[in-house]
Amino acid sequence: MIPITVVDVRDAEPYVLEVLRSGVLAQGPMVRRFEESFAAVVGARHAVAVNNGTTALVAALQVLDLQPGDEVVTSPFTFVATLNAILEAGATARFADIREDDFCVDPDAVAAAIGPRTKVLMPVHLYGQAADLGKIAPLAEEHGLHLVEDAAQAHGATFDGRGVGSFGLGCFSFYATKNITTGEGGAITTDDDAVADRLRVLRNQGMRQRYQYEMAGHNYRMTDLQAAVAIPQLEKVERVTARRKSNAERLNAGLAGLPGLRTPAELPGRSHVWHQYTVLVTDEAPVTRDELAERLGEKGVGHGVYYPKVVFDYDCYREHPGVVASDVPVASRVTRQCLSLPVHAAMSDADVDAVVTAVREVFGA
Ligand SMILES: *Cc1c(COP(=O)(O)O)cnc(C)c1O
Repeated sequence: MIPITVVDVRDAEPYVLEVLRSGVLAQGPMVRRFEESFAAVVGARHAVAVNNGTTALVAALQVLDLQPGDEVVTSPFTFVATLNAILEAGATARFADIREDDFCVDPDAVAAAIGPRTKVLMPVHLYGQAADLGKIAPLAEEHGLHLVEDAAQAHGATFDGRGVGSFGLGCFSFYATKNITTGEGGAITTDDDAVADRLRVLRNQGMRQRYQYEMAGHNYRMTDLQAAVAIPQLEKVERVTARRKSNAERLNAGLAGLPGLRTPAELPGRSHVWHQYTVLVTDEAPVTRDELAERLGEKGVGHGVYYPKVVFDYDCYREHPGVVASDVPVASRVTRQCLSLPVHAAMSDADVDAVVTAVREVFGA
């Protein structure tokens, strides 16, 4: 069996033991160390650690002082946390359709979705590749909007050589299966000293000095045990990402030319960190996406459908006052065609070749 993800954090043991022996378990020196190392990975001045990626998104929106009815334009093709964070922050979500080449919001659709109540653009750097920040960041600037990046899947990805999460407020997740993990964890990155300061106060009950409250805050703190898990990963992130990249290239070479199978691409000017390797199974293929998935399962090849529906297409959001549903034909089609295959750094060349062989067999090639 070749699983879709492998979590291996055994080398964190000495760092976790160091925390256990120190007795400083929350918002201590290991969290500080994690924040400094992660800010360097992103290329941002500050990283503010929080307890998960959803919280990172909520906190980023909360420091922007949104009012009820203020709108956030985001992607319909994302994990539900993106939408839930917008609703938790009391804002309204509006959706811009995606492009099929990067699976991220189409800047033209974003421009068309901007209205009088729009306050934030929130692209999602899906699967580990940056959205088109070369167009989206200037769009935010031109309209006086905040840019909040859902970079939960894109640790270390770049656009024009600049780290994602350094263009606007960057929101990262360190959930168990993400490219860098603390088990559960998150961080917000920013170059803005004042915003970083507000985030640190917000995360700690709105408290700067003990019992001196500056805002209505929350407990969003990360523990030092969690931070310790990520320390060795931050040291080897470039090597691990390079392995994911070479696996993706090997998959692309092996799967080239199959009728009805669209392989993913790293677009010019973007460095893809391959959180997921996602193909599209189109109408020209001899099998449907679901048939391919089932046959791969039988052959011991792990796979996943990220995501099976557009994010607002559930009963619980249908009548929700904070959700403005819209027609998103590209995203809707991609939910029916997408299939993610294993690309993780624990794969050997033989594993990658086994995935290629399995897919080619199902295609009768
Ligand atoms: C994982 C993820 C999140 C949420 O992160 P958690 O740490 O699970 O709360 C948000 N957005 C996207 C796109 C994600 O993949």
